[in-house]
Amino acid sequence: MTNLFRSLPSMDAVLDRLTARTPYDALPRPLVRQAAERFLDLVREEIRSGVHTDETALALEALFPRLTAFVAVHTRPHFRRVINATGVVVHTNLGRSLLAEAAVAAVAEAAGRYSNLEFDLKTGERGSRYAHVEDILKTLTGAEAALVVNNNAAAVLLVLDTLARGREVIVSRGQLVEIGGSFRIPEVMAKSGAILKEVGATNRTHRRDYENAITDQTAALLKVHTSNFRIIGFTKEVPLKELKEIGTRYNLPVIEDLGSGNLFDFAGLGLGQEPTVQRVVADGADVVSFSGDKVLGGPQAGIIVGKKAYIDRIKKNPLNRALRIDKMTLAALEATLRLYLDPAQAAVKVPTIALIAQAPETLRKKARRLAGVIARTGPGLLTATVRPGTSRVGGGAFPEQDLPTTLVAVTPANPDISAACLRERLLATDPPLVARIEDDTLCLDPRTLADDELTLAAKALAQALA
Ligand SMILES: *Cc1c(COP(=O)(O)O)cnc(C)c1O
Repeated sequence: MTNLFRSLPSMDAVLDRLTARTPYDALPRPLVRQAAERFLDLVREEIRSGVHTDETALALEALFPRLTAFVAVHTRPHFRRVINATGVVVHTNLGRSLLAEAAVAAVAEAAGRYSNLEFDLKTGERGSRYAHVEDILKTLTGAEAALVVNNNAAAVLLVLDTLARGREVIVSRGQLVEIGGSFRIPEVMAKSGAILKEVGATNRTHRRDYENAITDQTAALLKVHTSNFRIIGFTKEVPLKELKEIGTRYNLPVIEDLGSGNLFDFAGLGLGQEPTVQRVVADGADVVSFSGDKVLGGPQAGIIVGKKAYIDRIKKNPLNRALRIDKMTLAALEATLRLYLDPAQAAVKVPTIALIAQAPETLRKKARRLAGVIARTGPGLLTATVRPGTSRVGGGAFPEQDLPTTLVAVTPANPDISAACLRERLLATDPPLVARIEDDTLCLDPRTLADDELTLAAKALAQALA
């Protein structure tokens, strides 16, 4: 065994050999060294457990293919691209919305060049970073004023902190929801210093419930979009227009946390039930907040629109500075919003809308193409068949809406490989492929696959089953 250990190449020899060639020569040295150390540790462990008996197998040349594969895996960036075959368009764990081409270009320019981020080109003096998107948000939503912050959770916190700190905010019990990733309305409210005044029952809240709860301690009425949660059956909510009547009578602002606020009217695509931001503003909400990266299809941001008097106060809150939006986000947001000036253009160029809007026939063809590519790439390893299925919008938008799609169901030829095992192996491919399991079968949904990802998906399957 001592001889086996002795025949292992030295660390210096390993490093010299590795860094003499691409891509390892371009990688940070400490990363390569750490990976090589781990590899040698692994081989030593193998020697100890009797895996190796032959000295020649431990020569650098003999170990090299394994070494390079190991180093490639252990030196790559942690934050990576994945292939989303789940069919969930706004998948919070996979980065939510894909940006439109124009937004991607705007991000690159904002990132690599100086800009007028906080510089007024008319006066040559300090300007406001919010000015870049305020006018377009006013045009698109019909609101008097607008402000953008880091995300919608920050928007809700900032709005409540500004308008209701130390005072009461009335909310229906049916709307005290938790959104994925631990955003809970009661907890955000507590953090803002506003006092939650719950009214009504879980399933039914009436106008009189709000009116009876109003005291001189009341600061606002809050309506929360229940996002990925629905109460069905014997239910009642007070519509925004009625809340606004109450607000007007008692001189209280009506705030709406719209969650995934859409600027595009999805009713034309047969997706109903979700009011647009424009509708909510027109129905009288004084302050409305929503996410930039849910159905809107832009970057992570929290957008706040509403009456100028309230927005002005929110802008002046010192907390705003801590929640501020960065320049790359602003660039992406403005580019995305510009597409919405022409809704027909937005439908085609904003990926989130385009992915949701794909026709069943288009998806059927894409699924057949995908099944064909998979069968050709991994002959003998698997069978791929198409079957009808459903995709989801995600991001808490249109939660009850099934989007019809065609799935590609993949069955490994080896019966010992379960769907769960295959799903796990696919996560280790490069790039990783995220699929879903339905009826104990691994399924790929072509809705969230770009045309040039069909081959990548097929290669991932071949790699996972090889
Ligand atoms: C998603 C959501 C939030 C949080 O928005 P982020 O942009 O993820 O911070 C807040 N409220 C509602 C109703 C939501 O659906």
